Amino acid sequence: MKKLVIKNIGQILSGKLEDPIFDGDCIIAIDGKIMEWGANKDLDCEGATTLIDAHGVTVMPGLIDSHIHPVIGDYTPRQQQLNWIDSTLHGGVTTLISAGEVHMPGRPKDIVGLKAMAIAAQRWYENFRPSGVKVHAGAPVIEHGMVEQDFKDLAEAGVTLLGEVGLGTVKDGKTAQQMVGWARKYGIQSTIHTGGPSIPGSGLIDADMVIETGTDVIGHINGGHSALPDDQIICLCESCSSAFEIVHNGNERSAVLALNTARELGKLDQVILGTDGPAGSGVQPLGIMRMVAMLSAFGNVPAEKAFCFGHGNTSRQRNLNTGIIEAGYAADFVLLDKAQHAPGKTMLESVQLGNLPGVGMTVIDGEVTSGRSRNTPPADRLPEHIK
Ligand SMILES: [Zn+2]
Repeated sequence: MKKLVIKNIGQILSGKLEDPIFDGDCIIAIDGKIMEWGANKDLDCEGATTLIDAHGVTVMPGLIDSHIHPVIGDYTPRQQQLNWIDSTLHGGVTTLISAGEVHMPGRPKDIVGLKAMAIAAQRWYENFRPSGVKVHAGAPVIEHGMVEQDFKDLAEAGVTLLGEVGLGTVKDGKTAQQMVGWARKYGIQSTIHTGGPSIPGSGLIDADMVIETGTDVIGHINGGHSALPDDQIICLCESCSSAFEIVHNGNERSAVLALNTARELGKLDQVILGTDGPAGSGVQPLGIMRMVAMLSAFGNVPAEKAFCFGHGNTSRQRNLNTGIIEAGYAADFVLLDKAQHAPGKTMLESVQLGNLPGVGMTVIDGEVTSGRSRNTPPADRLPEHIK
């Protein structure tokens, strides 16, 4: 049995929007799953195989990037970049979700080819976790000519995601709606490219098409890069019960508009975060942290709730067993503290003032996966991996 004990925790962020801060200074996980948390004196902390002294820092669920474009391993041809996933782990992200492996050179667009690549991509990330990071990949982009049997085949072969609708030849709502319906029937989640074209070759997806298609996630509701006009973003927030995904590589003004609209509508639980990297804008190892700080600062959301956009909300919207402090959930954590010399009395206050926190450690499935981040500003206090 593997037993993880994290003691001397300063505060626990839960990932739950309705109850974002939990009492307790200790978390225990058994065989990679959270078992219990609370006051050290009330818990059985004996027999730890992994022991972490948090030295007063915050522990929260690992962040989830809802929108990435991986290709293979820890390499992206998009910006000729190596180890971008390892760098992302240093930004506190422990789970990545593919919105399509669209940067694969020579990506097949014929139906048998795109199915084969989706299945292969699902496998190579299931079999290989770069630096321990969980990558949910194998997200085919729908093309004209696909039939219901194709979605059944994909699901039976282990595919659980669609890539962004609109990045392939299907650019009309009627066809997209039918295919998304087939995907859903077989348990495959869907997302859509909202807004103007991202790179030469892609096209405009407006609010009417997003609503008609009815994907589970409104991919980059703030554009990736070019956002829809404000009235269309407001219309999407009003009309849809799907996830409102706000991305780093989108329009930041539109991001704040989407957040404010969601809050006014009482729909903050639908807000989730992604980077949309690697992309033309590069890769963003700190992208999710930066979105949390930006949205907390400009959207007037307390930091402990803004963090929920980056883990708990995504977990719920995408049915993941990570991203929330809950018994039975994966023991995926980030340990973080206020950055040195950042304004604000606490880590949360400094984030709400628009500053990044300092990551001191990450844990995935109960195992320590990284120590002090090489990418965030240095934190006031650092956790210690005792054994
Ligand atoms: Zn896109």
